[in-house]
Amino acid sequence: MIKTIQISEGFVKLKIPDPKKYKLDSKSPAFYNPAMITNRDISVLIAKILKPKTALDLLSATGVRALRLKKEANIKEVWANDAKKTAFALLKENVRLNKLNIKAGNDFAGDLLMESRSFDYIDLDPFGTPVPFLDAVMQKLKQNSILAVTATDTTVLCGAEYKACIRRYKARPLHNYLMHEVGVRILIKYVQEVGLNYKLSLKPVFSQSTRHYMRIYFKVVKNFNPLKQIKMWKEAGPMWLGSLWDVELIEKMYGLAVKSKNISDETRNLLYRIAQEAKIPTVGFFDLTELKLKQVPKLQKVIETLQAKGYKAARTHFSNTGIKTNASEKEFKDLL
Ligand code: SAH
Repeated sequence: MIKTIQISEGFVKLKIPDPKKYKLDSKSPAFYNPAMITNRDISVLIAKILKPKTALDLLSATGVRALRLKKEANIKEVWANDAKKTAFALLKENVRLNKLNIKAGNDFAGDLLMESRSFDYIDLDPFGTPVPFLDAVMQKLKQNSILAVTATDTTVLCGAEYKACIRRYKARPLHNYLMHEVGVRILIKYVQEVGLNYKLSLKPVFSQSTRHYMRIYFKVVKNFNPLKQIKMWKEAGPMWLGSLWDVELIEKMYGLAVKSKNISDETRNLLYRIAQEAKIPTVGFFDLTELKLKQVPKLQKVIETLQAKGYKAARTHFSNTGIKTNASEKEFKDLL
């Protein structure tokens, strides 16, 4: 028997392995990470707005995400799956606890996808890299489907393990103040390339890099060739150089987050910042601490000055000292 405690997240009740007894790592009987609440809040918001009818939470652990998608986004048909026996046991218990109708599976991801239907939304939330799961997942997407991908191998995507990034993502990372944005863009390009093998054109509609994870939502769309915007940038890449967000979607998400009690403050704050930067679709940003100034000016002051001169300018969620702007590097430095 697993020793559990009961908690709540969003509008669901949840039994999780007692954190006093089990460490939070891949050996946990059912992995549950409270630092990922924002990651799950965003799935709920996107599902509420894009209204998929069928959803698969492929690597579900305690089932928390699937439960929230059912209860809070009211998706008609929700599947949750985990290969681990102890996770599956807890998943079923949590489904009962919340009295929700969810199809629970105890399969290896590849086996489940081999036999299953296609889905309007697939969530891929593994430990580490999503790469080994992508081929199987692509085969169950169709026109207009949404694919959500988490990567926690950020040391690789952010260039601390340079060669591993070339091996795994076939791209050169950066390891400086731009590493999170570049890592996100490399992850996007890799997923898009796998998609193309299955005749799927994947357009990113939401991107995020927070602490130890990156998260991208793609939509399968027609008449779109991602290769046109996959290129080298500085000495890094190839990577996706197109936009990271669908501005209209972000605005709806923020609007919904503000009035929803099941969404955390961290998520609201993140969406506020992203809603601003999404309107400035530049690749990269300027970082005030990188400019080697005698005195670092106030971020808000610099933004207001840029705006007063007619430029677009906003903070970026990629760095607490970064500014996205359409001003050139020379214009930016002259202004400072
Ligand atoms: N999505 C969860 C966390 C998942 S952790 C959440 O939001 O809380 C990753 C899970 O993937 C683990 O529970 C692990 O047991 C499961 N897993 C790993 N490899 C798998 C595979 N090949 N098939 C199915 N499940 C797998």
